[in-house]
Amino acid sequence: MSLLEDAVEKVVIGADHVHTAATVRRRQRTFVPPSELHSHLATKADTALLDQLFYATVDECPDPNCRPLVLDRVAADATATRKLVNWACHIASEMYGGLPAELVDGDEAATTVFRPSPFFCRLAAEYHNPGSAFDAVYATFDTAQRRQVADNAVALVDGFQVWWTDFLYQ
Ligand SMILES: [Zn+2]
Repeated sequence: MSLLEDAVEKVVIGADHVHTAATVRRRQRTFVPPSELHSHLATKADTALLDQLFYATVDECPDPNCRPLVLDRVAADATATRKLVNWACHIASEMYGGLPAELVDGDEAATTVFRPSPFFCRLAAEYHNPGSAFDAVYATFDTAQRRQVADNAVALVDGFQVWWTDFLYQ
């Protein structure tokens, strides 16, 4: 990458720093990052951006522009957002042996500190069910809704980093 391209990239992200597995400071547990979750979606999505969003969340980045701008970029990419939600659901499903009601049922989810958007719960419910209509539900989401579910996906795994399975039961 040329110096000019590098400069443009930084302007687009809006921050003078990056977040990666190598720079993250707060991590207590190691989960597979979004970029490394094997999926048929992997080739099209901007997976470095997904990792950046995750590690900025883990580190509670103090730059007020950093996380919102990365979130905007993720939400603009439907494939990337979908991969991020699949990644979070995959990790949660492995941890609990399936997705608990606190993720798939909006009323139950509202009682947790996590408090995901109803859109996230709908996707989690579809992920959870055999013969899932995940694709069909996801296709109805607009950019603002994708932004919410992307935000929820990284917040969920960030919560697991600190609280493990207790995150949904505090
Ligand atoms: Zn940052």
